[in-house]
Amino acid sequence: SGCASLKGTPTMAIEPLTNFVNGAFVKSGASEFLPVRDPGTTDVLTQVPLSPKEEVDAAVTAGAVAFREWRRTPAGERIQPLFRLKVLLEQNRDEIAKIITRECGKTYVESDAEIQRAIENIEVACGAPSMMQGVTNEDIARGIDESMVRQPLGVVAAITPFNFPLMVPLWFMPYAVACGNSFLLKPSEKVPMTMMKLMELVAQAGFPKGVIQVINGARDVVDAILDHPDVKAVSFVGSTPVAKYIYSRATANGKRAQCQGGAKNPIIVMPDADMETTTRIAADSAFGCAGQRCLAASVAITVGDARNEFLERIADAASSRKVGYGLDKATQMGPVITGDSKARIEKLIAMGEMEGAKIVVDGRQHKVSGYEDGNFVFPTILDGVPHGGELARTEIFGPVFSLTHASTIEEAIAMCNDRAYGNAASIFTTSGAAARQFRYEVASGNVGINLGVPAPMAYFPFSGWRQSFFGDLHAQGAHGFEFYTETKVIIERWPKEWSRKF
Ligand code: NAD
Repeated sequence: SGCASLKGTPTMAIEPLTNFVNGAFVKSGASEFLPVRDPGTTDVLTQVPLSPKEEVDAAVTAGAVAFREWRRTPAGERIQPLFRLKVLLEQNRDEIAKIITRECGKTYVESDAEIQRAIENIEVACGAPSMMQGVTNEDIARGIDESMVRQPLGVVAAITPFNFPLMVPLWFMPYAVACGNSFLLKPSEKVPMTMMKLMELVAQAGFPKGVIQVINGARDVVDAILDHPDVKAVSFVGSTPVAKYIYSRATANGKRAQCQGGAKNPIIVMPDADMETTTRIAADSAFGCAGQRCLAASVAITVGDARNEFLERIADAASSRKVGYGLDKATQMGPVITGDSKARIEKLIAMGEMEGAKIVVDGRQHKVSGYEDGNFVFPTILDGVPHGGELARTEIFGPVFSLTHASTIEEAIAMCNDRAYGNAASIFTTSGAAARQFRYEVASGNVGINLGVPAPMAYFPFSGWRQSFFGDLHAQGAHGFEFYTETKVIIERWPKEWSRKF
């Protein structure tokens, strides 16, 4: 993975991004930089340093020093800068939405929605004083009490993907610091600008130096994090091969790890579904964020008579979607992240056709006027994608919706479960019995009923299964507090006879 194709001659006229270390914006001594491009124009927005290992080491050291004081700071005090950060995010919402759109390509409305989901995680993390509480039993034996407390781990790190430049880092950071850890982030090198803007707000919010830090870079930064003995926990979100790699290396080094991977999310459309709502929701799921959401519907399994009507309606929805630059008001769908990504998606469309699928709506070869160089792939519908084929198993991560067919709900659920990924699955039906059977039997961590993007709220765990998740404790909510704390059990005996007589 990574982004080899973006490596080019850096436009040094543009001042490169810095890192954020020990409370300051620090120039990287990197010898290599990557251009960060606007996916809608392919213009270079800035340069991102591929920071060397020594800069990770310096940040971990600063984080470890900050931790000594931060863990002693009462939780009720630790959450005060998080409250301020929430307000700062609200005040800077428009500017941040524009940064997200420029570097990531999604529409302004989608960027704004992402900010909302990010803020919600800060709100939930502010519950730390309650959520970190331990438990006590008096008299586990006569006169002996036992209690369990939760203590922070130390320096913890996260490595995040390109598709949610703000929200995914905030699946981790607020919980980590509210629990008393110091937090080190390596953002995606494709979208590093949003996090540098967030660090300006972090500096204003008044977190002590070293408690929140960012080191920009790619694989070398990741490996330095994975091998550093003072990094106690690693959170990852990205593709499955990288998730597996990070999970293996982090755990082999004795760290806690939670690694969220790729997806290939099915939806079942029952013949009794309300077709108008179903199609609208399914289209938003498949084509929202240009299909680059880990909860995006990727395969529709129509059951029985649902087939023809759904095909007709979804083809309409796909061909009428307005594709364009994310900051243009009329735009309903933006570009995909890189030229590589566009090429990969177009190859997969061709592969689907070779495997016997019919291209009902072809999103290749379209240009957006005024943005001829942008990485645009238009909504695409493939019908009759063979369930056993390679395309049915491959994550596309683009605006391509594959249709396939089943005769019964049992067959459809079996098709959902016969896949390596288990991030999300949805059913569209007006039957309670069908909905119940589906939610009970489907092998997926996030389940939607008459819903296209079953994204858990911040107070629920983001529950990927199988190849979509490696680890035990998920991101967000109560799992976040557990992941970022170590339990300590204390058993005490204080006989009265030992008391000094007064
Ligand atoms: P990616 O795996 O290419 O990159 C993710 C991060 O890993 C980046 O920070 C990158 O620098 C780093 N990385 C890449 N290759 C590496 C390597 N060989 N060694 C070490 N580090 C490496 O993912 P992406 O393209 O940025 O994001 C898209 C993927 O993320 C999709 O597969 C999508 O399904 C997945 N995703 C999953 C979830 C989820 O909740 N499960 C959420 C968002 C995205």
